[in-house]
Amino acid sequence: MARVLSGIQPTGDIHLGNYLGAIHQWVQDQHTQDAYFCVVDLHALTIPRDPAELRAKTLETTLLLVAAGLDPEVCTLFVQSHVHEHAELSWILESVASMGELERMTQFKEKAKDGRESARVALFTYPVLMAADILLYDADQVPVGEDQRQHLELCRDVALRFNHRYGETFVIPEAALPKVGARVMDLQRPTSKMSKSAESPQGTVLVLDDPAAIERKFKRAVTDTGTDVAFDPQKKPGVSNLLSILGAATGRHPAEVAEGYSQYGPLKADTAAAVVELLRPLRERYAELAADPEAVRSTLARGAEKAQGVASATLARAREAIGLLPRH
Ligand code: ATP
Ligand code: MG
Repeated sequence: MARVLSGIQPTGDIHLGNYLGAIHQWVQDQHTQDAYFCVVDLHALTIPRDPAELRAKTLETTLLLVAAGLDPEVCTLFVQSHVHEHAELSWILESVASMGELERMTQFKEKAKDGRESARVALFTYPVLMAADILLYDADQVPVGEDQRQHLELCRDVALRFNHRYGETFVIPEAALPKVGARVMDLQRPTSKMSKSAESPQGTVLVLDDPAAIERKFKRAVTDTGTDVAFDPQKKPGVSNLLSILGAATGRHPAEVAEGYSQYGPLKADTAAAVVELLRPLRERYAELAADPEAVRSTLARGAEKAQGVASATLARAREAIGLLPRH
């Protein structure tokens, strides 16, 4: 069975982009593949975090993944920092990646825009840790949103270089992009992706938002000049985003969805209604799980143990290949 791996940061609140671009597909993948999913808490250290909040968010994110349909009995669900091999392999890969290739990462440029000088070193090297996350599990497929494509390319480059320099060690992963809903944009700024770390409460639909909040956010969604409804992300980013969301929520292509509308109002209302229904089971299940978070928390130890079994074997190969003396 092919192995698949993906991760989500316990930063901010999980939104519709995370759900449609990633989690929705993960839930399907767990049944057809040997699936590993991790809450990447080490990645959350790349920007300032309150320690107590980080801990709480890590558990909350885990509960949300289970509420969305990930079954710890079916897939391997774990917290990244519980498997120390991630940090260790990351250091080894830093000795293979170059400054130049990391400097080309657009996400660093976006996230460090408040100043390179004060940006954390970890924000700069984050794509290398992500490469370690993937390579440790010999993953063939990595389901990622469009925003992570460049990081996955870097992972492949670093793995190929390592294999070339030190001998066959890593499996080279492929990106698996979802067919629809690959990139959900901010409802207020439809040229930027919906994001946990962006300050855009009205533009971000949270998976735990109640129906009234979801309806309000879609009603106020920024649309484009003109009045016709057409799928054209360049010329009509706002409307196209709504069409993509409604298409993803109902399993249709956005251009096909566009044929059913001639005005913005009904499109907004139908998109809101479809999203409310899509997220209803998740919201209900989350409320149940949150009443007894320890039940989910206890499954994380098993997940970490299983993950570590695979990760430690890969790390041992990498250590050996690069010339680190084994401990007796
Ligand atoms: P942050 O702003 O903290 O980076 P994020 O919203 O980008 O948060 P991540 O935890 O980095 O979320 O990503 C989790 C998964 O969700 C990844 O697979 C990523 O590709 C996907 N994803 C994130 N944002 C979107 C989006 N707007 N549309 C589709 N997929 C997305
Ligand atoms: Mg992100």
